[in-house]
Amino acid sequence: MTARFRIGIDLGGTKIEAAAVDRLGVVRVRRRIAAPTGNYRATIEAIAALVRAIEQQIGETVSVGIGMPGTISPITGLVKNANSTWLIGRPLQRDLESTLGRPARLANDANCFALSEATDGAAAGMETVFGVILGTGVGGGIVMGGRILVGANAIAGEWGHNPLPWPRPDEIPGPACYCGRSGCVETFLSGPGLAADHRHYGGRHLSPPEIADLAARGDAECGATLGRYIDRLARGLALVINLIDPDVIVLGGGLSGISALYERVPLLWGRYVFSDNVVTRLLPPVHGDSSGVRGAAWLWRAEEAE
Ligand SMILES: [Zn+2]
Repeated sequence: MTARFRIGIDLGGTKIEAAAVDRLGVVRVRRRIAAPTGNYRATIEAIAALVRAIEQQIGETVSVGIGMPGTISPITGLVKNANSTWLIGRPLQRDLESTLGRPARLANDANCFALSEATDGAAAGMETVFGVILGTGVGGGIVMGGRILVGANAIAGEWGHNPLPWPRPDEIPGPACYCGRSGCVETFLSGPGLAADHRHYGGRHLSPPEIADLAARGDAECGATLGRYIDRLARGLALVINLIDPDVIVLGGGLSGISALYERVPLLWGRYVFSDNVVTRLLPPVHGDSSGVRGAAWLWRAEEAE
């Protein structure tokens, strides 16, 4: 008999969200706790407690998928590239599996977002999908034919730490990035990057939604900042289109709520894409904040979730 539910966990830096997702993709049970920031052992225990609580509620033991910051190194089996630094170098998968007493699947959180939107969201039924997280950081994930493209180094789709393409003179070398380089896409296109750019050009301390709001109401300074952001996003995504040529690009994360992006970015990216026409569509997410847990649950396909 096939299980009615799959459990998806969204392991974030400040919160851990868990959900039981039914066979139609509907989130039936949802729990959210503050992440035990900085404490690896407590993170394992917190995830296990969430799984136990949900399984008690749904009355069955089911498959568990986990969306995480960074990824599991295919070489060492240890966490790498996580901005939740207390996870780095830890055998997260092995420890979770031994605590849960069953196999668990883990994937990068941007990959889970892309999988959720490609399975039954904004990009449902599309062959090649690029999912982008524009939030505190910038991440990306590729889904082809309904499956995550993981890659030999488990970094496929990692877009945020490439240099911003076609840089203008005042974008070189660009802001310093925590990865040790300068001018990374993330330093321009993350929420903090947008806010810092506004201040760099003499603007006040404003949050990205405030900047977008004021720009929409005709504020010239905020309009200029948003214009720079849109041109940079168009350049960054043009590079992705040149490389994997997706049918759909879905935006997620806090900045995906800026509606001007969906209209104005595709008007600009044609200048940079190596093609006479660009049919790639840029779309907002359908599942919003639920994409993390949904994509994590989908790491187990229905026929495997028994
Ligand atoms: Zn970087």
